[in-house]
Amino acid sequence: MRTSNFLLSTLKETPADAEIISHQLMLRAGMIRKVAAGIYNWLPAGLRVLRKVEKIVREEMDLAGAQEVLMPAVQPAELWQQSGRWEQYGGELLRMSDRHGREFCFGPTHEEVITSLISNEIRSYKQLPATFYQVQTKFRDERRPRFGVMRSREFIMKDAYSFHLDQASLEDTYSKMYQTYTRIFTRLGLHFRAVEADTGSIGGSASHEFHVLADSGEDAIAVCDKFDYAANVELAEALAVGGERPAATQTLEKVDTPGQTTIDAVSEYLKTPVEKTVKTLLVHAAEEGKLVALVLRGDHELNELKAEKHPLVATPLVWASDEEIQQAVGCSPGSIGVVDMTIAVIADRSAANVADFVCGANQDGVHYTGVNWERDCAEPEVYDLRTVVAGDVCARADDTNQDSQLSITRGIEVGHIFQLGTKYSEAMNASCLDNNGKAAIMPMGCYGIGVSRIVASAIEQNHDDRGIIWPEAIAPFQLVITPIGYNKSEQVKSVCDDLYQTLTGLGIEVLLDDRNERPGIMFADADLLGIPHRIVIGEKSLANDKIEYKNRRAEGPEEVPQNGIVEFLT
Ligand code: ATP
Ligand code: MG
Ligand code: MG
Ligand code: MG
Repeated sequence: MRTSNFLLSTLKETPADAEIISHQLMLRAGMIRKVAAGIYNWLPAGLRVLRKVEKIVREEMDLAGAQEVLMPAVQPAELWQQSGRWEQYGGELLRMSDRHGREFCFGPTHEEVITSLISNEIRSYKQLPATFYQVQTKFRDERRPRFGVMRSREFIMKDAYSFHLDQASLEDTYSKMYQTYTRIFTRLGLHFRAVEADTGSIGGSASHEFHVLADSGEDAIAVCDKFDYAANVELAEALAVGGERPAATQTLEKVDTPGQTTIDAVSEYLKTPVEKTVKTLLVHAAEEGKLVALVLRGDHELNELKAEKHPLVATPLVWASDEEIQQAVGCSPGSIGVVDMTIAVIADRSAANVADFVCGANQDGVHYTGVNWERDCAEPEVYDLRTVVAGDVCARADDTNQDSQLSITRGIEVGHIFQLGTKYSEAMNASCLDNNGKAAIMPMGCYGIGVSRIVASAIEQNHDDRGIIWPEAIAPFQLVITPIGYNKSEQVKSVCDDLYQTLTGLGIEVLLDDRNERPGIMFADADLLGIPHRIVIGEKSLANDKIEYKNRRAEGPEEVPQNGIVEFLT
């Protein structure tokens, strides 16, 4: 590509309404332009990156045996009425009607459409398991679209859906997708972390989110490196709008003694039955105007509270609903989140509500708790897990143990995988014949990746004060050739043109800057655009048979012999 033939719409000034660095740089580098709130044009420079992300996603999905389909962006209301989500979905669903008064929505996700499609196409267990995916435009009428394409209303998602004969097959595909996602984000060159997550309005049981770690991330994730465990908490709108940050994250016991739960220890200390201890703790906390969140241990006796609704209870990860907790401990939902027998989270009541808490456990049954911090808390924070909860309920402060520290860090959700179970297939009667010829409802999984958000996330992790520094795999161009005097020197022009031809022929994506701008301007644009490699060709260095090379990440340039440059670059 030659700049004379390329819309290089770079801006010198930082646009005033762009809050985070990726948004600023995407505007300045001429990658995107706003059309309306949360709705963007992708310019050539941006689209080249977006397509590269899509390509990697497609390659890995294909490799995992998923089949690409393309579903409509506009979906009939009837399908959403069948699943019950027409009523449930709320303000994010963009609803519209056609000239005949029939209702539609612009799809924010495609569970209904795919389930309806597959219920008609798959007849026999022999066709299972099967996974379908698409890369497609979604619309969500976000309450607060912001940060450019990071949280836009119209965006591009890769969404995939798997269909199974039984839960075991679903779990198998789920773990394959987990691995596929790990490969995708690794290939994209991102620093990321998979975390246990809430299933939100999509529904279902097991769920992991993939987070790109960045201070600007809107999500808080709780990480304990000792147990290689991480959990995310869905951010509640309430908290985002002026809520206060929870006061502390604390636990009642050493996490290095799995087998004995905290509440057990407290019960022993207080000489009361476990249920009473929980109640005392909650009442005490309520009096203090605190909110308590606890998670049940996998093998804990109080697991009787768990409902069949939570099939993962069989594993050490356990969840309890508000009603279950209400039943078990007689505390009203709103004052208690999820019950954890190992770690308790205390927060000001004003800061959060039930939805603000998600807790989880790792394979060893050791529990960590995620907390919803308000969106703009930038600093990662570290909390000692072994201090005391709710004042005198347990007065057993222990020595600090570095190992059991929980750190709260920030992430950008770029992927999300769910085991949906039969929520949609049941509602929409998606069944197939099993090996006894009996109709069986198909359990499903779903797997999303925020393709357009990834572009912004990559910039959050890869930039300096001069601009973007693309990971090789998604750079709009791999190499820029910056001539000094392209139109003035026949020699410079011919060396540049030859190299451009040769390198392009070798499959390298080269941008030849033939604009005849001042070198400073050309360098600044190349740096802003984040092209990983640059060569400078001028008469002076050519006189010494040299070409100047600079890596975008390197401090300064180096000289390469002219006749060795192709070899050097390939
Ligand atoms: P978030 O918590 O950021 O609102 P979500 O949990 O609502 O995201 P999912 O339903 O899990 O999103 O959708 C799958 C993926 O789509 C997300 O992991 C994210 O990467 C991407 N995504 C969701 N909403 C947006 C948005 N408004 N703009 C850009 N990408 C988005
Ligand atoms: Mg959302
Ligand atoms: Mg989310
Ligand atoms: Mg999600």
